[in-house]
Amino acid sequence: MSVFRSNIDAMEAYVPGEQAAPGAKVVKLNTNENPYPPSPKAVAAGREFDYERLRVYPQAVSRKLTAAAAQVFDVPPEWVLPGNGSDDIIMMLARSVAGAGRRIAYPVPTFTFYQTQAQVEGARCVEAPYEGDGFVLPVEGLLEANAELTFVANPNSPTGVAAPAEQLERLAAGLSGVLCIDEAYVDFTGDGRGALDLARKHENVIVLRTLSKGYSLAGLRIGLGIANPDLLAGVAKAKQIYNVDALAAEVAAAALEDQAWKNANAARVVASREKLTAELTALGWRVLPSAANFLLAGPAGGDAAEVFKALRERGIYVRYYGKDPRIADRLRITVGGEEDNAALLAAIKDISA
Ligand SMILES: *Cc1c(COP(=O)(O)O)cnc(C)c1O
Repeated sequence: MSVFRSNIDAMEAYVPGEQAAPGAKVVKLNTNENPYPPSPKAVAAGREFDYERLRVYPQAVSRKLTAAAAQVFDVPPEWVLPGNGSDDIIMMLARSVAGAGRRIAYPVPTFTFYQTQAQVEGARCVEAPYEGDGFVLPVEGLLEANAELTFVANPNSPTGVAAPAEQLERLAAGLSGVLCIDEAYVDFTGDGRGALDLARKHENVIVLRTLSKGYSLAGLRIGLGIANPDLLAGVAKAKQIYNVDALAAEVAAAALEDQAWKNANAARVVASREKLTAELTALGWRVLPSAANFLLAGPAGGDAAEVFKALRERGIYVRYYGKDPRIADRLRITVGGEEDNAALLAAIKDISA
């Protein structure tokens, strides 16, 4: 007899990408981290942090962090809800909006944590397949589902494809439930502005930003939900009291204030992405054009599972999604620094030699 609710017994646990031991010599291209260091101003904020402050609880919502985010995203501070990573906001959304007898919709393939949270809450999952070889956002399918909560990652993972603003506008206007636009990778897109205007315009839209990718702070665990205060107030009822620690809030605020650092590193990643796309294509790989900091790419004539294993044996970690037939012939490869990408290409040439 199980002690768990039946939906917990029935579901599979989320499997994160492998993290090697700190300092291990691997080329880590499996979890879309930024190859460049965080802002020196963020590092200084961490060094200068007064640890005596840890004796007392942090503010339940850090005013310093919401003020910094408000400045960057050009919204009032009450429009910002910080989370312990954007994963935390995804959990709060699922807890506050969905549950038994309710539905969570998302296009597939996508970030599987949306499904995980739907299953934990006992909500029904409505999956709309991305369309065609270009993995185009299934706007009509999502509108038809009209779920209580809809997640769209834009750009999407693991495809790297970005949906045009007009498609998101149609979703925002047509859905009566909550639309969460997860912009974890927005810093690597054209102008980086994303869908904040949709959150300003539509009461049911929440935009997620994270410091994990563009800001090189995946280990800090800071994400931000941006929406009107009424929507945020409901979501925050499902919040841990002190979900963001005092040190992380301080470091994150400093990182947000250094847009120039983030933008310069994002531009370097984008340049490397275009170079790596060309290099893999020249080796006969099928590479989907990406607006993010990773590529979904199919090995030349090869078996993705085999190449995944062979790369791993050479100390190069990438992501393989064997279970999903639409992408089982491809690998998701994070765009690393120039040395990482060179090591990847050398290993690929070695494997196929
Ligand atoms: C990486 C990623 C996130 C970021 O999660 P954090 O909890 O902020 O680190 C969110 N959504 C998607 C689709 C991602 O790929």
